[in-house]
Amino acid sequence: MFGGIPFEHFGGGMPGGMPGGMGRGGGGDVDTQKLYDVLGVEKSADAKEIKKAYRKLAVKHHPDKGGDEHVFKEINAAYEILSDEEKRNLYDKYGLEGVEQGDAPSAGGEDLFSMFFGGGGGRRSAGPRKGPSIQHPIKVALEDLYNGKTVKLAINRKVMAGDSKFCDNCNGKGAVLELRQIGPGMVTQMQRTCSSCKGQGQVYKTKNERKVVEVHIEKGATHNQKITFRGMADETPGRETGDVHFVVQEKDHDLFKRKGADLLLMQDISVNQALTGFSYKFKHLDGRELIIKTKPGEVIECEIEVGGKKMPYMTKVANEGMPSKGNPFVKGDLYVMFHVKFPKKIDPKVAEQICKLLPDPNVEEKYDAMEVEEHFMEPADLRHFGKGGAAVAGGDYDSDDEEGQPVQCQQS
Ligand SMILES: [Zn+2]
Repeated sequence: MFGGIPFEHFGGGMPGGMPGGMGRGGGGDVDTQKLYDVLGVEKSADAKEIKKAYRKLAVKHHPDKGGDEHVFKEINAAYEILSDEEKRNLYDKYGLEGVEQGDAPSAGGEDLFSMFFGGGGGRRSAGPRKGPSIQHPIKVALEDLYNGKTVKLAINRKVMAGDSKFCDNCNGKGAVLELRQIGPGMVTQMQRTCSSCKGQGQVYKTKNERKVVEVHIEKGATHNQKITFRGMADETPGRETGDVHFVVQEKDHDLFKRKGADLLLMQDISVNQALTGFSYKFKHLDGRELIIKTKPGEVIECEIEVGGKKMPYMTKVANEGMPSKGNPFVKGDLYVMFHVKFPKKIDPKVAEQICKLLPDPNVEEKYDAMEVEEHFMEPADLRHFGKGGAAVAGGDYDSDDEEGQPVQCQQS
């Protein structure tokens, strides 16, 4: 459980004795009101009202328009929870702790509690809490992941300007007590986040700092890999400064697809190339020119059977993949996947030539045309299989008139 949370509701009219001060009241109930207060809506507000209130506040407090960043973050986080039916239910029942357990907070990685209740009286008591960390995605070309690269990037952050001062308004507690009349003779005493220090208990000034850092992308770095700069996030008093993580985002490549340390090259080839040989020149990721080619007599098939399954025909060149992450001297493999493209039509004279040259030609059936029925075939769609017969409405599919003369191989 968490102690010292502002906004406990204390029962009844009791301007006199305030039991427990900042501590939790007697009951076991948790705060399920704060987020509604942040957006300024009733607890019974529907999704539309919440959205409307959020939009208004988000515009008003946007940092680009001079709004306070912390307030803006609070508004966003409150909206994120209250606009999500599941999260709102959790919050209504169990407060922020319920939401946090149900779903990791996504508001810039900032801890929900520290966001709403400041860093001071958090649940975790061991040592100074670390401030929020920031993630910056950086897009990196596959070439740069192969060769490694150092990029200079600017981090814009807030740093403390001078020392922080104890907040007089709340006596450093981060919250102030407020009386609210809820009916004749009925007063509720609530704790509200101190507006002077925004719940931090300390007042301080910040200034913007722009710091250029060199981000070293190592050879073989992978998608979503983090490159961390410790203590480079915004400074907050009394807390260890959070980290800045640059997160590698691998860009798509025109030629290669990458998986782990392996690369895949997809090649369209003609039947001619599949049967008589294939060579292809390309520039590798480090600028070397490579030629991949078939051995004499090697045939590239459309597909092969692996373990009873039809698989695309694949070849590979060993050690021409990516440098391995953490061990760039060991490289993955370069896989090549082929797609054999057939010509749409063929000149009967050419067919006759090929037929003579290739193995396993058609054996001409001997028949009397008066005795048997002969048919030419037309293109068909597997998805129509089973839908034939009278029940099919509008089964009128196109058939290209491609009824050329069949090629009969003249066996010599
Ligand atoms: Zn204060």
